[in-house]
Amino acid sequence: MFARSVPALLGAWLCCWAALAWAQGGGTVRIGVLAYLGADAAVEEWTPVATQLRRALPGRAVELISLDHAALNEAAQARRVDFIITNPGHYVELESRLGASRILTLQTGSTLPTSAWQAVGAAVVTLAGNPQVQRLADLRGQRVAVVGKEAFSGYQLVWRELAAEGIDPASDLRQLLVVGLPMDRVLEAVASGAADAGFVRACMVESRPEWRQRFRVVAPRPEMGFACATSTRVYPNWPIATLRHTDPALARAVTIALLEMRAGDSPITWTVPADYQSVHEMQRELKIGPYANLRVPTLTALAQRYWPWLAGLLGLIALGGVYTLHVERQVQARTADLRQAAREREELEARLRQSREQAEHMARLSVLGELSGTLAHELNQPLAAIGNYAQSLIRRVDQQRLSPDAAREAASEMAGQAERAAGVLSRIRAFARKRVAQRQVVDPVALVHEAVALFRGMQVHAPPVDVVDKLPAGTMLTVDALQVQQVLLNLLKNGWDATRHLPAERQQLTVTLRRDTSGVHIAVRDRGEPLSTGQQSHLFEPFFTTKADGMGLGLSICRSIAEAHGGRLDASAAEDGLGLQFTLTLPDDDRNPTRGA
Ligand code: ADP
Repeated sequence: MFARSVPALLGAWLCCWAALAWAQGGGTVRIGVLAYLGADAAVEEWTPVATQLRRALPGRAVELISLDHAALNEAAQARRVDFIITNPGHYVELESRLGASRILTLQTGSTLPTSAWQAVGAAVVTLAGNPQVQRLADLRGQRVAVVGKEAFSGYQLVWRELAAEGIDPASDLRQLLVVGLPMDRVLEAVASGAADAGFVRACMVESRPEWRQRFRVVAPRPEMGFACATSTRVYPNWPIATLRHTDPALARAVTIALLEMRAGDSPITWTVPADYQSVHEMQRELKIGPYANLRVPTLTALAQRYWPWLAGLLGLIALGGVYTLHVERQVQARTADLRQAAREREELEARLRQSREQAEHMARLSVLGELSGTLAHELNQPLAAIGNYAQSLIRRVDQQRLSPDAAREAASEMAGQAERAAGVLSRIRAFARKRVAQRQVVDPVALVHEAVALFRGMQVHAPPVDVVDKLPAGTMLTVDALQVQQVLLNLLKNGWDATRHLPAERQQLTVTLRRDTSGVHIAVRDRGEPLSTGQQSHLFEPFFTTKADGMGLGLSICRSIAEAHGGRLDASAAEDGLGLQFTLTLPDDDRNPTRGA
């Protein structure tokens, strides 16, 4: 008798000692409980625990805080609870996330008596009269009511069994109707026909006679020592756990106090902590709770998780796209404008080129016009000579005095004169021809002689023109020969204009060719009167003329021809102070930038 009462006495003593020890620390004992049947039901269910603790820890307030899954997590994290009573699945999750540590496992609850190790299962229920759902596999394509996807016995236990059958409840059911806590709602959904079946905690159907009549548990499994019908494997009972911040003295006091709860006195009893390995295995298989990181995220899951980022990114891409389009449009518009501008410029240049060619042609004709006043006399001479020879031939034939030699001599003179006239005319024709500017490689000395011949051929009393060649042998130019001739003709004509009224010795014109590093220089000098500095500064201005019949365009056109060849035309007083010297400088073939243009 005494021996039997020793452990009881010892327990009572320990309990009092621990309670007193903790009581010195003070404070309210706050116990968070998972409200799977609703807040009121939870408080009611766990009231015996609170009563026992108040009794064992005199002077201490004990508060039961009933919360749902997420709120309980939050309260534990914020240290608003010291103990947690929750389902095994949630406990395993808290174990890894917040360091929850089980101190006891529920032995018997308010439901049917069970063993602590074999206590929690889940039942797939359907209406008793529904023949459609006989096996778990029959759930495929059905509407199923659940309290929530985080519910342990209300979802995850059945999920494990369905997964073993190759069924994914998230995709293979016709509808997964989430009704929320309390769990009665699941039965209500099945009863009302809103769902074909529902997942509930095992033993729930058995807890009320009317439910037992109305519903049937699908595919019940024989589980040793488990009193209720279960469609799943069974797992250890709910634990009570401490958190990292829980005072160890309080934990010890609570453990001892709860172990004191005796069957018969209390509807709830506790035992030493059970092994929750089977819960770990279940969660590992389903890749949930602490094993969620094993799950390879699907695109949809990623999209669901990161949709604000995704939406932002898509928004940015869309904005980028719109901006790119806008820029593209602007670029196209600007390109079109530029093309139009380039076209207009080309047209303008073509028109300009045409007018320049026309102007040059007019200038050539004008030079010819000015020179050709005497052209008639020039042609008259050979024509008169030819006439004279012809008359003389006729006379001699009439007098029968024409020897073959005399006839030959007269005819060859006539031919010579005709050739001279034809030469003058062909040069003029070539010079006056209207044509497009073209460049060719020419011998500058030959070019100067040709210009001098043309000039002299058109004058009755042509002044002597001296050509002084100081060029290295083989010097060549790539130029528009006709344009250069035009310049030379202009310069020669101006020189003759400036000296024709002077004594014969001042009429001499000299053309000198030389070459230096800046190119080939062709200088035309006369021995006329010197010009005033004022006059000299206006020489190249268009329409500057001192002649009664002058146009004042010759020199300005000559200068533009020189520049178009990459060269220059300059005027200076002659070195001996007599007359002017005009120097046309052209880049020779080694340096001509426009060669072949
Ligand atoms: P134009 O011969 O029709 O007058 P130019 O442009 O050829 O037109 O010449 C412009 C002016 O420059 C001439 O009117 C003349 O006054 C002066 N000039 C040109 N060459 C000489 C020169 N060799 N000696 C003196 N004056 C000249």
